Amino acid sequence: MTGTDVTGLDVLEARARAAARPAADEGLILCDNLVRVYRTQDVEVQALQGLDLVVEEGECTALVGASGSGKSTLLSILSGLDLPTAGRARVAGHDLLSMGRRERLGYRRRTVGFVWQQTGRNLLPYLTALENVALPMKYARVPRRTRTARAGELLDALGVGYCRDRRPQQMSGGEQQRVAVAVASANGPRVLFADEPTGELDTASGADVFAALRRANEELGTTVLVVTHDPLVSEQVGRTVRIRDGRTATETLRAEGDPGGEEFAVLDRVGRLQLPREHIERYGLRGRVRLTAEHDHVGVWADGTPAGTDDRPAG
Ligand code: ADP
Ligand code: MG
Repeated sequence: MTGTDVTGLDVLEARARAAARPAADEGLILCDNLVRVYRTQDVEVQALQGLDLVVEEGECTALVGASGSGKSTLLSILSGLDLPTAGRARVAGHDLLSMGRRERLGYRRRTVGFVWQQTGRNLLPYLTALENVALPMKYARVPRRTRTARAGELLDALGVGYCRDRRPQQMSGGEQQRVAVAVASANGPRVLFADEPTGELDTASGADVFAALRRANEELGTTVLVVTHDPLVSEQVGRTVRIRDGRTATETLRAEGDPGGEEFAVLDRVGRLQLPREHIERYGLRGRVRLTAEHDHVGVWADGTPAGTDDRPAG
């Protein structure tokens, strides 16, 4: 946004930001050994099995992983809709396990914003785009004039100002999702969560929606965590976290202009490491492996590899 007016909302935002500063060493989002077990009759599903994640304020992070790996479960917990079974989760100074009903409501209203995959779930069908964006501000008791002005600014900033007087059925899927990003950003949240927001869209409108998320990140300063299957999205963000079986498996970090990036395995707090499948297969690693301490790295050897040979590639 380009305006320099100080609105009531700016004051609200500044206050919210000052009130809930995370400890310096733990990032804006912290998940520590997060566990979520679903129990249905006699079946037990471990959706999250000790997941660790730290996201710094201002990051734009993609979350990827096979279907059923726990991505939506994680986002439901982080957005305050679901509770973990065990572990620790903090977002912007809020302890997601212990916060009470009032704090949770305020958290969902002001600290986080959410964009769902299903376009129909993000917007109220009988309200215009502008009214949809103004609604969360009404709940946050922002004065009417400020609401209207801010909603218009947000729609403009996200490239859908021309949709302000349209209802959802008069917009394309991509336009609806960009309006949904505006709705989620309405109360100036610290974090925006999006669960496969481009999943129902074609490539071109998917790119527009992702551009809207990037703007929220770069221009509004919102930290963004987006679940995606779309390589076009995951290759454009600074960091991609891959979840496997309810745990953080690898992270890929990218510098500007380097879509491939470099993939890292993630060591959890107690030193556990999930080796990528291709390494496991390539080196025939199974069960016991031999670790060798070299002067600048640790070697991982299949059991049966003679110790002391250094002419073999290490994992
Ligand atoms: P993803 O979003 O990565 O596809 P989910 O978080 O939706 O994965 O699901 C993780 C696992 O938890 C899956 O095995 C799924 O079947 C299970 N699961 C998700 N929600 C529920 C629920 N409400 N009740 C029971 N099992 C669930
Ligand atoms: Mg999902």
